[in-house]
Amino acid sequence: MLAALLYGQEDLRLERVPDPIPAAGEVVIQVTAATTCGTDLKVWHRGGHAKMLKPPTRFGHEAAGRIVALGEGVTGWKVGDRVVANNSAPCMTCFFCQRREYSLCANLTFNNGTFAEYLKIPAAIVQYNLLPIPEGMSDALAAMTEPLACVLHGVARSNVKSGDRVAVLGDGAIGLMFVAALVQQSTEVFLFGGNDQRLTVGEKFGAAQTFNYRQVEVPAVVRDLTNGWGADVVIEATGVPAVWEMAIACARPGATVNLFGGCPRDTTITVNTEQLHYSELTLKGVFHNTPEYVRAALAFLSSQVPFELLVSDRQPLQQLEKVFQNMKDRKVIKVAIEPSIAGAE
Ligand SMILES: [Zn+2]
Ligand SMILES: [Zn+2]
Repeated sequence: MLAALLYGQEDLRLERVPDPIPAAGEVVIQVTAATTCGTDLKVWHRGGHAKMLKPPTRFGHEAAGRIVALGEGVTGWKVGDRVVANNSAPCMTCFFCQRREYSLCANLTFNNGTFAEYLKIPAAIVQYNLLPIPEGMSDALAAMTEPLACVLHGVARSNVKSGDRVAVLGDGAIGLMFVAALVQQSTEVFLFGGNDQRLTVGEKFGAAQTFNYRQVEVPAVVRDLTNGWGADVVIEATGVPAVWEMAIACARPGATVNLFGGCPRDTTITVNTEQLHYSELTLKGVFHNTPEYVRAALAFLSSQVPFELLVSDRQPLQQLEKVFQNMKDRKVIKVAIEPSIAGAE
C-alpha cells in the first residue's frame, strides 16, 4: 500500500509499504478520510514527536474508514463496516484506570499512521474506542471524533456553569470546537484569534463576540466585557507559554483557567502567587480524552453545529506535503486526506 513516512524536519515521502495484516483482536481499515491536525503540523515541522514518533515514521492520527480485515477473535464487527477509531485506548487496569482517570492511563495504547491507504487498529482500541459511523455522516466529519473528544473532556473539566462568560484564546480547530461545545452549556463565549476567516467560523459556531488579538489588548478587552472582573472561565488553546500567562491575566477572582494547548518541551510560565492565592484561581491542565467523550463527540458531530466548516479542503495522499505547507501558512484549518481520490500529479 501507499503510506506517508516522515524522515525528518519537513521531509515527507510517499512510499510503498507492506499491507497491514491484523493479529488477534485487531482490525484493518481502508482509510477513507484522515483529517490533519495541529499536532501533525508540529510533528511534520519538528521531524518527529518527543514521546511517540521517531523518524522514519508513519504518522497521522485522525481517521475514518471501512473495515477490510478482522483478526482472530474479533466479534461485533464485519468487513465493510464504516468506523471511526480513536488514536488511543486506556488499559483499564492501571492505577489511574482503576480510578476512572483514563486520560492519565500509564499504558495508553497509541495508534499513528492514518496518512496511508490502510491502517491497523490495535486490539485495545478495537475493544474500547472503535465506533460505527452513523448513517448519513460523512467520513471526513467522523474523522474529527478524536479532537472533539479531547475538547468535550476539556469542557467537562472547566467548571463551566450556565450563564458563565468564557474567554477562548486560539482560533485553531480546537479553539473553534471549544466555542461550539461551550455554547451548548448556555455560556457567553468571547473568542480571540489571529485569523479573520477562522473568527467568522467561531461566530457561526455561536461565539458572542470575536476579536483579532493583533488589534486589541486581550485581558483589557475581557475585563471590559465582564464589568471589570475578568472571565468566569478561560480556555487556552494555542500551546504558547506567553498565551498561558495571558489566559491567567484574563481570569476573574474564583475563575477556572484551562491550559489546554500543549506547549513545547521544557518551557515554563510565571504565575503571580498573590493572584493565584487571593483570587482563588483554579489553573488546570487537561490532556487527551476518554472512551466516554469519544462516544459523546461522535454524537455531537451529528448535531446541527456546522462542523464541516472546519474541513477546508479534501486532497489525495500525494498532496500531503503541499497540505502541510498550507497549514503552516494558516491557509487551511483542517484538510481531509482521502486516499481514494485519484492522486493528481
Ligand atoms: Zn488531532
Ligand atoms: Zn490504564
